[in-house]
Amino acid sequence: MQALTQRAKAVDRKPMTWWEKLYLPSILKGMAITFGHSFKKRPTINYPEETRPFSPVFRGLHVLNRDEEGRERCTACGLCAVACPAEAITMEAAERIEGEENLYREEKYAAKYEINMLRCIFCGLCEEACPKDAIYLSETFAPSNYTRKGFIYGKDELLIPHPIQDPEGYAKAKGLNN
Ligand code: SF4
Ligand code: SF4
Repeated sequence: MQALTQRAKAVDRKPMTWWEKLYLPSILKGMAITFGHSFKKRPTINYPEETRPFSPVFRGLHVLNRDEEGRERCTACGLCAVACPAEAITMEAAERIEGEENLYREEKYAAKYEINMLRCIFCGLCEEACPKDAIYLSETFAPSNYTRKGFIYGKDELLIPHPIQDPEGYAKAKGLNN
């Protein structure tokens, strides 16, 4: 501390000129800069009302896909979970019973399918690993939440809307409205 005091050196402050003491020129200069910027194109946007176009390589929220008849494509093979480097995917398989042919495309389906969004790194490997075109990463952000549990997305959140019952929601999820 003492060494610091010895090394400390008083710096004389340059006295303000008469012109500087007026302050008015500096205020006017500042206002001119602000005024000039108000006619320039804004670099910001009014998010969330406005959004920017995504990069073609953007990977957002996952969607569990259906076929054209609305049947769930996922056959609970587990390949996406094996490919996932973050171990974010869990599922439980079930066997399709008679009368469920219009719900599930294959004889086996995912009774439970969950992705932990806090673990996910949006690498897209699950999509690449899927042999049934049953999962893809959309252009939707993962929304925020107040609890850790709220970031575990199940079939309610992941499953794409039914193409016949909700064609608008289906088209939107597929990005067909853009
Ligand atoms: S995007 Fe990557 S990290 Fe996320 S669930 Fe799929 S494989 Fe796992
Ligand atoms: S999403 Fe695809 S890879 Fe994953 S369990 Fe379903 S069918 Fe298999």
